[in-house]
Amino acid sequence: EASTLSRIGLAGLAVMGQNLALNIAEKGFPISVYNRSTSKVDDTLQRAQDEGHLPLTGHYNPKDFILSIKKPRSVIILVKAGAPVDQTIQTLSGYMEPGDTIIDGGNEWYENTERRILEANSKGLLYLGMGVSGGEEGARNGPSLMPGGSYQAYDNIKDIVSKVAAQVEDGPCVTYIGEGGSGNFVKMVHNGIEYGDMQLISEAYDVLKNVGGLSNAELAEIFDEWNRGELESFLIEITADIFKVKDEHGDGELVDKILDKTGMKGTGKWTVQQAAELSVAAPTIAASLDCRYLSGLKDEREAASKVLEAAGLKEEVGTVRSGIDKKRLIDDVRQALYASKICSYAQGMNLLRAKSVEKNWNLNFGELARIWKGGCIIRAVFLDRIKVAYQRNPDLASLVVDPDFAKEMVQRQAAWRRVVGLAISAGISTPGMCASLAYFDTYRRARLPAESCPSSKGFVWGSYL
Ligand code: NAP
Repeated sequence: EASTLSRIGLAGLAVMGQNLALNIAEKGFPISVYNRSTSKVDDTLQRAQDEGHLPLTGHYNPKDFILSIKKPRSVIILVKAGAPVDQTIQTLSGYMEPGDTIIDGGNEWYENTERRILEANSKGLLYLGMGVSGGEEGARNGPSLMPGGSYQAYDNIKDIVSKVAAQVEDGPCVTYIGEGGSGNFVKMVHNGIEYGDMQLISEAYDVLKNVGGLSNAELAEIFDEWNRGELESFLIEITADIFKVKDEHGDGELVDKILDKTGMKGTGKWTVQQAAELSVAAPTIAASLDCRYLSGLKDEREAASKVLEAAGLKEEVGTVRSGIDKKRLIDDVRQALYASKICSYAQGMNLLRAKSVEKNWNLNFGELARIWKGGCIIRAVFLDRIKVAYQRNPDLASLVVDPDFAKEMVQRQAAWRRVVGLAISAGISTPGMCASLAYFDTYRRARLPAESCPSSKGFVWGSYL
């Protein structure tokens, strides 16, 4: 009955799993699906019908599920990261045979993947840790996929992932990342970079709104215009759209009613921890993480603003705003955002390089930039430039010193300094832009004052040590 067997299986039918399964089925690969609680299997079957009678079969017990897949079997798991992945592997692997493959598509800590690779190998199973980016939308219509682990396992599903991934002009947004937990690690840094992007965009917005005094309609227009130039990207596009959403329950736009409190799931924090572990400076990404911590303290911030006002703190923003040339500010902020973003990507790429050296992963940075051009949250036109920079020089020390980016940084630095300076005088914090600028100013100096830092041996001049 080999002809009725599915080409692949997927276990874990929450947001990501359900949508990825439908995407795989839609690309013409018959798929078996399974979920611990059965209602999600029914939901998925219903959607497969509704969305075009897709070749998807639902299973309510793990044995039937595994036996419904053609050998050598490939099974994608998309459950909550951590212990649920171990439990799911435990449930499924009993029915799997040597040569079969487990693919964890979650946001998993890379060391968990490396442990599971060894456990799987001891049973003759192959293993991939595959980062999946693009959220619900990406999973359904074309994500960016970052598979790492067994090359053979990747080769077994190459035909599927190449069709399921987002497609850009230079190919599908998937590539074999490297051995071990490299796929998860790359996805983790991708998320850290995403934190940086979101922070920088929110700062651009804050400066334009509060220093520039721009209305939501003006902001929408500016972000739309930016999205037609060098900043063209998914996050800029959806930011423009946000300003146009009316508040259904009152006057004005929804953006002004959203609670200014963000949460996080862990990958951004891991990125900063890894940067520290590997002695790689990642100040922009760290600043964006810090901002999320502070943003979470909504009640404390409200109390602090009252205490400091009572202590005599005066808002300076009005004074600064009165002398503003709006048109120039808008153009300056665009340039500051772009230059800050280059520094943030330089940090993320250098973190990846440090890990690649430590683990012998041999990461191809040009390819990473390429597979991020579509499907994922950080997709952006400027990733093509990063791809080109690393193709030109795979050993590039930093994006900042790529000849093209170097020129752009220099062209933008005056505008960048004006924005940060204005924001500081106005008391509008721009920690991401400041961190990027300080990173640039530190990295570009041949001689730093660190030689005069007090050391553990007392106050000594480093050059004499
Ligand atoms: P999720 O909310 O992280 O997890 C829910 C799924 O995990 C359900 O199918 C649930 O099964 C299953 N599960 C939880 N504990 C389990 C256990 N002990 N044994 C078996 N199954 C268990 O789902 P998600 O948002 O779709 O995310 C899946 C993975 O993708 C996560 O690693 C997430 O970080 C990553 N990811 C998510 C997004 C996103 O936008 N959501 C984007 C990229 C990556 P039941 O139905 O039986 O409870």
